[in-house]
This record gives sequence, structure tokens and C-alpha cells, in this order.
Amino acid sequence: MKTEEIISRAEQVLMHTYGRYKLVLDHGEGMYVYDNDGKKYLDFAAGIGVFALGYGNKELNDAITAQLNKLTHTSNYYYCETSMLAAEKFTKASGMDRVFFTNSGTEAIEGALKLARKYYYNKKGVADSEIIAMNHSFHGRSMGAVTVTGTESYRIPFEPLIGNVKFAEYNDLEGVKALVTEKTAAIIMETVQGEGGIHPANEAFIKGVRALCDEKDILLILDEVQCGMGRSGDMFAYQTYGVMPDIVTSAKGLGSGVPVGAFAAREEVASALVPGDHGSTYGGNPLVCAAVSKVFDLFEEKKILDNVKEVGAYLYKKLDEFAEAHKDIVVEHRGVMMMQGLEFTFDVHGIAAKVLEQGLITIAAGKYVIRFLPPLIAEKKHVDEMIEKLEKAVAAEMAEKGM
Ligand SMILES: *Cc1c(COP(=O)(O)O)cnc(C)c1O
Repeated sequence: MKTEEIISRAEQVLMHTYGRYKLVLDHGEGMYVYDNDGKKYLDFAAGIGVFALGYGNKELNDAITAQLNKLTHTSNYYYCETSMLAAEKFTKASGMDRVFFTNSGTEAIEGALKLARKYYYNKKGVADSEIIAMNHSFHGRSMGAVTVTGTESYRIPFEPLIGNVKFAEYNDLEGVKALVTEKTAAIIMETVQGEGGIHPANEAFIKGVRALCDEKDILLILDEVQCGMGRSGDMFAYQTYGVMPDIVTSAKGLGSGVPVGAFAAREEVASALVPGDHGSTYGGNPLVCAAVSKVFDLFEEKKILDNVKEVGAYLYKKLDEFAEAHKDIVVEHRGVMMMQGLEFTFDVHGIAAKVLEQGLITIAAGKYVIRFLPPLIAEKKHVDEMIEKLEKAVAAEMAEKGM
């Protein structure tokens, strides 16, 4: 079908909830994805940080296909070896004791919030808990998840929300302390803020929040839906900081293309949920767990974390050079390994469109930040190719703006 026809027919039937680029994607291979007309794009967005192992990984696809032909779904009333193996690998990699698989990052957040409330309820015998969340955070789109999301426009039209949530400034420990009361059940934050513009936690801040939680018996929920699964150079970004959460959430890279999320906790916390408290019909079915299980195996076999550290450091250096060379328009370069951002002085959506003409995909994070979330298999040559295309796109944008 012709590209224009696909777009115009899609516009008739899909809800207008996304500002989509006029790009119809058809197939992918490794670091590259191809559009409906056969044009090749180097992908530094990876479907918003999803394709950890790149497009069309044969071993992953074979593992999914084998499970597809065997058994795709069981419901959670029964056991299945594939789901058990995925759970073992997740708990081992995260340092948590028990995991609950979900269908998305948002549902992982819902589960984490319910777990925190139930833990508090068991402890206090009353259901009046409060949660502290961060400004500029992003935790998803369900009622619970938007309640803890620090962007008012995502929340206000959907009120009344769940209530008893207060917002602190990220990286401001005193601000967090000031919000703590006897009723604080949990503090929720991203270890590295993603949608809010790529803001890594300061080490003193995250360690201070951990100490505060220990002192006041508050649960620390670290949302690693975006920054986890290898992006920081460790399996989870809190490991890079040497801090452990009480509850962790994951999704995006977890299935490297299949829809799956998870929340996990240490034993004492996890045991607050008992049969009847929480559930999901699909959550962690054998099909997605075959992917999760294989993703963890391939991370080890292919030494993905070593690659993230080596190529992520190279990407950091190259983006630093880019920022230095474009001081007049780049406000700041931030991030960790394979989750980085460039903040510009102007709205970056023009650049995000111009890079497509150059055969490069990136994504914005808010209005002023271009985000780089490549598949974790990226090599230095891909970084060089990306920088070259970015330079051309920025030059075109500047020419258009007459800057
Ligand atoms: C994307 C994201 C979510 C929501 O995940 P979905 O799979 O889109 O529901 C939650 N938290 C963070 C940090 C995210 O980046």
C-alpha cells in the first residue's frame, strides 16, 4: 500500500492521542529500520528505548517463535517453566526477591503503588497513606500512574485522581524531607528521569533519599522502566549508584520488543500482597516470558553491559564535543551511557523532523531536549554516523530559522 494511503486511512480510524511523524515503518534489522518506501534509518530512539537488542534479533525471535508454537498463554492460575525462568532471571539481575510481571510500564507502576499501600495498611491498620513523587517525573498514563507524574497537563484534565500525593523537586533532598509525614508510605522516582528531559539523580540525593527511607520506614520505589535493563551500563541504574530500592519497576527494554513490564520487591515488602490483592490475565504469559528469559541470556552471552559502557562512553564524548561546538544553541548535555540528552535553546521538534530527512531517528523529551536511546548493541561507527546526520539536520534547522 502507498505511504500516503496508509497515513490517511490511519488518521481516519486511530484516536488522535499522538503527534505522529509522517513515517510508515515496515521492517528492521540491527540498528536500522526501513520505511514503507525502503528508505533506511539509523535508529537512536529504539521505539522509546524498547529494542535493547536491536531489530530482528534472530536468537530472540527463534525463542519467541518456539514458545509461540508451543503455548502462548496459561492465565496465572497455573505454573509454566518459561515464566518461572524469566522470574528467576529478573530477581537475580535486580537483586529483588519476588517479581510480578505486567503488560506495560504503567501497570508496573500501578502494582508498585498498590504494593506500597498494602504494606503500609498492614503496618498501620489504616488506609490513609501518602506518597511523595517528583516534579518532571513520568510514570505512565493510568489514573494511578498519572497521579504520581510531575507534569500538570498530564494530570489536571483527569482529576479527581487517587489523592494523597505530594511533589518534591528532583535532586533536592531537603525538599523531599520537608514533605515527609507519619503517613508517608513511599517515595517514588526514576533513577534517571527520562521523559522529563534526561536528568540523572545526583549521587548524594539518591543516597540521601535511601537513608531517609530507612530512618522513617518509608518504601523507596525506583522506576527503571526507561533507565533500567542495561542503559546505565549496569543491569539497573540503582546498581550504578550502589543503592537498593524496596520496589523496582521495569518495562521498555525488558522484552526487547514484546509488551512486558514488571515490578519486584524484597521479600518483606512483597509478602504484603496475598492471593486476591492483585492480578492480571495476561501478565507474564509464556510468550512474553520467553522473550524476557532470552533477553537476559543474550545480555550475558553478548556481553551487552560491556558494550554499553564502551560505546556509551564514546557517545558521551561525541555529544560533549557536539555541545561544545554548538554552545550558542545547546544549553546542556546530560545523561548516562545509552540514555543521553541534549537540551537546546529552542523547541527541538524541528530537529527531530529534520533528522528523519537524513535517515536518522531520535526522539524529543519535552520541548527542548533531544534524547538518544539507541539499541544497546550500538557500535562506535553508529555513533559517528549518528553525529554526522545530526550535524546536517541541525545545520538545516539553523538555516531555516535564519540563525
Ligand atoms: C515509559 C515509561 C513508563 C510507562 O511505560 P508504558 O509501557 O508506556 O506504560 C513509566 N515510567 C517510565 C520512567 C517510563 O519511561
